[in-house]
Amino acid sequence: MDSNTPIENLPGIGTYYARKLKRLEIKTLEDLIYHFPFRYDDFSQISTISNLTPGEKISIQGVIWQIKNIRTRSGKFVTVATIVDQSATIEVIWFNQPYLTKTLKAGLPVSLSGKVQLDGNRPKLISPSYEVLRSTHHSLVPQNLGEVGSLITHDSTLHTGRLVPIYPETEGLSSKWLRAKIANFLPVHKDITRDFLPKKIIEDQKLEPLNSALSKIHFPKKYADVDIAKKRLAFDEIFTTQLMSQLRKKDWQEKRNSPKMKTNKKKLTLFIKKLPFNLTNAQKRSIDEILNDLNDTRPANRLLEGDVGSGKTVVAAAAAIAAFENGFDTLFAAPTEILAFQHQKTLDSILEPLNIKVGIWTASKKLNGDITCGTHALLTSFKPERQVGLVIVDEQHRFGVAQRAKLFLNHSQKLTPHLLTMTATPIPRTLALTLYGDLDLSILDEMPKGRQKIATFVVPNFKRNDAYRFIEKEIKTGKQAFILTPFVEPSETMATVKSATVEFEKLQTKFSKKTKLGLLHGRLKSREKEKIMGDFKNNKIQILVATPVVEVGIDVPNATIMLIESAERFGLAQLHQLRGRVGRGKHKSYCFLFTDSRSETSIKRLKSMGKVHVGFELAEIDLKMRGPGEIFGLTQSGFFNFKVADLSDQKLISTAQAEAKKIIEADPNLKKYPLLSEKLTTLNLQYSQPN
Ligand code: ADP
Ligand code: MG
Repeated sequence: MDSNTPIENLPGIGTYYARKLKRLEIKTLEDLIYHFPFRYDDFSQISTISNLTPGEKISIQGVIWQIKNIRTRSGKFVTVATIVDQSATIEVIWFNQPYLTKTLKAGLPVSLSGKVQLDGNRPKLISPSYEVLRSTHHSLVPQNLGEVGSLITHDSTLHTGRLVPIYPETEGLSSKWLRAKIANFLPVHKDITRDFLPKKIIEDQKLEPLNSALSKIHFPKKYADVDIAKKRLAFDEIFTTQLMSQLRKKDWQEKRNSPKMKTNKKKLTLFIKKLPFNLTNAQKRSIDEILNDLNDTRPANRLLEGDVGSGKTVVAAAAAIAAFENGFDTLFAAPTEILAFQHQKTLDSILEPLNIKVGIWTASKKLNGDITCGTHALLTSFKPERQVGLVIVDEQHRFGVAQRAKLFLNHSQKLTPHLLTMTATPIPRTLALTLYGDLDLSILDEMPKGRQKIATFVVPNFKRNDAYRFIEKEIKTGKQAFILTPFVEPSETMATVKSATVEFEKLQTKFSKKTKLGLLHGRLKSREKEKIMGDFKNNKIQILVATPVVEVGIDVPNATIMLIESAERFGLAQLHQLRGRVGRGKHKSYCFLFTDSRSETSIKRLKSMGKVHVGFELAEIDLKMRGPGEIFGLTQSGFFNFKVADLSDQKLISTAQAEAKKIIEADPNLKKYPLLSEKLTTLNLQYSQPN
């Protein structure tokens, strides 16, 4: 057995539970051990029964005096027990769990944790958590209080009488189950793992040894243990990520050669002069940075970040011109066919004056160009006519790391193409450097002049009909609207969230017969999706009801309204991106944020959408209010998996970064650190799995 042992091969788990565990992303022993509690129930205070105070969260340890199931008139079961310790007795009640009497029998010593409640003036424990303690005698009902003490061994408890870890759960896998399994396998894991972190770093950074940190995060004796554990485990996350990206960068730059592309100043000036607008300073700066990259045999690997509408395409075009002028082709990859066509059209119109041919390569249309826009099909069937010198990837987080890698490796004939990726996700610079340490960064933090702000309103429930009337009015003047709902099917765990399907049915009745609505969600086949988006683009559909799949930028200048249901569930940066789908034409545009939430912070957060219109600023606000995890939707993107590290912790990031650098400088192949090297291999495998 090692830490990569598949979970179903562990004793006592089997395929039934393995399937459930996979829903929690637990596939190996290691995954189970790295499934950390998200909080702890503090039941560490063990009281004697005579000392109980109503309202307190406590644990008691005593012997079951008597226990029985009672059937109520409505046919339900109530389990009633009397527990006795040296000081007194107390009544304990559980509802609808008649099977309890199979494990909990009179005479057994038990530990119970719960909140003390008053029944009349007598304290009672209602539905406490319980576990049977190891007993010295066998099921002996004590004859008097004095006898009780000798029956209890103060064993170390797991589910009661301590800081009890609470885990992310899934249907059929409770925290109690997970806790028991983790307690069971933690010692096994300890026996087979050695600390992969260099000793020197552990000492210099005053970190807890790995095995001890893992014990402490699951089963802390006190809260301070949790902090100690988290400090170590957070360091691991940032340190290994940094090591991987710095190694990737080194590898990328040292082992590969790219074409050195000289900038043709005349052509560039001509291109800029022919544009129907003046470049923003941010665009000028980014173009300089990229052209500078290209003018080197080291492969460029740059991320261009900019809000929707900040003008990334022109920057990409400038780079493509440089490639063309130096005799190389460019590939321009987009996540959907519609976007690929859109890019082709845009680039074609701005590059035509320079006589650069723009091709398209998708499942349905194949035409080579000096620059070829396309979808996944570029990966599989495209054969370039000349050497590909530059690969541009739009909305890169949707592609997945493995696919990105394939995109340039496939076309690396003799030379490796330079790589430019673009994203509209406004990740603050520090965070971006943590996530993409192997990339250089250019940021378009300035919008083109004269862009209208999208009037944004938070709409409480009772005003929703007013909003529908407003939409109806806009549609009468030829405009279109998006209505976004967060989920496809009604989901019990998200009972308050409107499903797109239900919403769609309901919305049909809210608008006049002439108004055509279309439904777009993630479960549709891609051909159906493209058809609906096409109909929306051509105004055959006036209202597009959709899940956030429309986040991928389709350009519908006629769409002036974005209505978002359950807006509080989204990150501000995400809301900003969604809102960026409207206001693309010359018409005044609106964003309605619907919410049932009554939480003041929630509403305040949403209201900042009305005041702030820069993605980066919104991202910073969210980063402070909610932490980075879910904000950028990156957790699902396969890029990283930080469970413990706080990405706004500047000090942690810079220390881990510096330690990673030191190691690589001293020992670039990690020869002296085989365990660390092995750890990175495992992580790399996890990261490169396509999502
Ligand atoms: P995105 O960053 O979302 O990809 P685009 O490159 O599609 O943005 O640009 C959005 C729109 O803004 C396009 O119509 C483009 O022609 C226009 N645009 C780009 N740069 C400028 C600028 N400096 N001034 C005015 N309009 C611009
Ligand atoms: Mg774009």
